[in-house]
Amino acid sequence: MELHLTDNITVLKGIGDKTAALFGRMGTETLEELLRFYPRDYDRIEEVSRIAELTDNTRAVVRGTVCAGVSERKAGRLVISFSQAADETGKMQLSFFNMPYIKKMLKKGSLYYFRGKVSKRGGSFTMEQPVLLSPAEYDRQRGKLLPVYPLTTGLNQKTVRKALQQVLGAVQQDSGLLPEVLPKEIRKERQFCGIYEALREIHFPEGREELAAAKKRLAFEEFLVFLLLVRKMKDSAEAVPNAFPMFETSDTRRFVEALPFKLTEDQEQVWRDILGDMTGSYTMNRLVQGDVGSGKTVLAALALLLAVSNGYQGAMMAPTEVLAAQHFKILRGYTDKYNLPFRPVLLTGSMTAKEKREAYGQIESGSGNLIIGTHALIQEKVIYANLALVITDEQHRFGVRQREAFLRKGIETGNAKEPKPPHVMVMSATPIPRTLAMILYGDLHVSVIKQMPAGRRGIKNCVVGTDWRGRAWKFLEKEISAGRQAFVVCPMIGPSEESELENVEEYTEKLRAALPDAIRIGMLHGKMKPAEKKRLMDAFGAGMIDIVVSTTVIEVGVNIPNATVMLIENAERFGLAQLHQLRGRVGRGECQSYCIFINSSDADRSKERLEVLNHSNDGFYIAEQDLKLRGPGDMFGVRQSGILNFRIADIYQDADMLMQADQACGEIAADKSWEEKEKYRPLAALLARSVRNNIDFPGI
Ligand code: ADP
Ligand code: MG
Repeated sequence: MELHLTDNITVLKGIGDKTAALFGRMGTETLEELLRFYPRDYDRIEEVSRIAELTDNTRAVVRGTVCAGVSERKAGRLVISFSQAADETGKMQLSFFNMPYIKKMLKKGSLYYFRGKVSKRGGSFTMEQPVLLSPAEYDRQRGKLLPVYPLTTGLNQKTVRKALQQVLGAVQQDSGLLPEVLPKEIRKERQFCGIYEALREIHFPEGREELAAAKKRLAFEEFLVFLLLVRKMKDSAEAVPNAFPMFETSDTRRFVEALPFKLTEDQEQVWRDILGDMTGSYTMNRLVQGDVGSGKTVLAALALLLAVSNGYQGAMMAPTEVLAAQHFKILRGYTDKYNLPFRPVLLTGSMTAKEKREAYGQIESGSGNLIIGTHALIQEKVIYANLALVITDEQHRFGVRQREAFLRKGIETGNAKEPKPPHVMVMSATPIPRTLAMILYGDLHVSVIKQMPAGRRGIKNCVVGTDWRGRAWKFLEKEISAGRQAFVVCPMIGPSEESELENVEEYTEKLRAALPDAIRIGMLHGKMKPAEKKRLMDAFGAGMIDIVVSTTVIEVGVNIPNATVMLIENAERFGLAQLHQLRGRVGRGECQSYCIFINSSDADRSKERLEVLNHSNDGFYIAEQDLKLRGPGDMFGVRQSGILNFRIADIYQDADMLMQADQACGEIAADKSWEEKEKYRPLAALLARSVRNNIDFPGI
């Protein structure tokens, strides 16, 4: 059968519509997308341990004989099955949850390799939920790295692995199927492997070295496509005459003076930058980078006020409903308190059709002049009367495509008769080292707020081991009884066979059991619906919930001044820059705030890394250290997920590839007609496809 990369994955054996729908939920519909559905981790099967030599709380493989029948116990709807296995050195218990068929399967006297987590209970070890492997299966897996994919309910590793084996097999047979994106000289200069080899090794690595080489190449490729896109935007944005020239007005001066605080010197400088741009000869394209809490919102308010008091519309797009609602509330508050000429309109996806229609009307007629919302702001139905400024907040959560769409929207509908490009301001709380920022934000002028508003109490930090958890919980209890609130962050959503990392679902239960009933504990994670998330955050904001246990989804930029404790489990699993962002959720109010990092690793390196956070609250310094403390060996360490979320590349881990891609991008794009050159055709096609398919490019 002849395959094409654009085929739907249902062409593969064993993938029907149902399974395809599950893949679809993971954003994978075509064969090409499947090839680019990268593992999130790799698993290597352990060497065999003897029962007498097991250690508490570790994963192990035991070669043993079943030496007891299976007994069962019911716990609510749960069936727990028990048995025993023995080797030459002793016996261990086996327990299986909700696997009633194990009773028939597990025969006394048969030999298995049992793989699972063991824990010591009383005098003996129990292996929970072991995976059973036949000697042949164990031999086959030994020494190999097996890919571990991000999954959704109903989809399992085996299905994904099989599907990938099939596509890779097809590609191997027909090399014409998968076009090489990187021209030969680029690969040669950097000793990159070919595309087929890279994809094969990223999914089914021969060994660590091959995997590292594959990852390097794919990261380079991802950066290169991204940078070429940034370059395109830069070319089209460069030195565009200011279509919405403005004058400083009494409103902005009055607002600055009326504020209950004085702008910091850095804020003043950034405001001068913005003012200079918007009153100058060219259209503004500016990134305002400032650590969490550095006071970017008031600068957005000033820029919007400048546009509005000059008779234009201004719009601000936030990545989530929660943040959009928060901005709307703050700006409406300013409008009333300082008698500003704003006529604010909120537009978000979850509004009713009637509410939306009303908002569209106000935006189109110009009766609304300050428009705040989510992605809904760039929907087709929205027509702006005279949009002169677009601001996107917490930029790394948007794709580059969305920013471009917002810009184009402004150009096309900002003034329907005569398209004009609006001023663009991008706000980011990601402290990225300057060298990297220059590359990643190549099409923007950069303003940085380094200084924090005066009078902030520093956050008190501590890095502790898991043995400290009990005390940490007591501390939560104490703060809550003093009327404060707390965040707890875990790396996983639910329990999983493959991971011992803390997860939100079980942790919430554990906390509920351990703390007094009066303490109200809520749960937040990425699989919840936006409306559910919003309801929970609203309740938290209103003080109806005391503790939120969540994954890293807690919105960047969420302002809950009464939250004073941030407790982070498995802190060693996060990047420093990301931990710093999480920490920024507290320390926003009057009271002293605390951040407790629980480190579950014994490695000295983890301690060393986390110590950086213990001693500094300066995001830019932390980002630099993060870069410094990573070696090339860190490839599978901590991904800064949530920060400039590339598919495979990580701006910290792959910083060297980013620099090289930047260099290559410069060389390629030096030739203005590079896209028409034969050797770049597949690269140009990939770029066009990314643009067309709205592939969510990170950051910018
Ligand atoms: P971020 O940069 O993370 O978006 P915000 O704009 O939310 O930070 O500001 C955090 C808090 O600091 C807000 O309550 C804001 O009113 C306050 N703030 C901003 N600028 C100053 C300043 N110069 N002095 C004192 N407080 C300020
Ligand atoms: Mg903010």
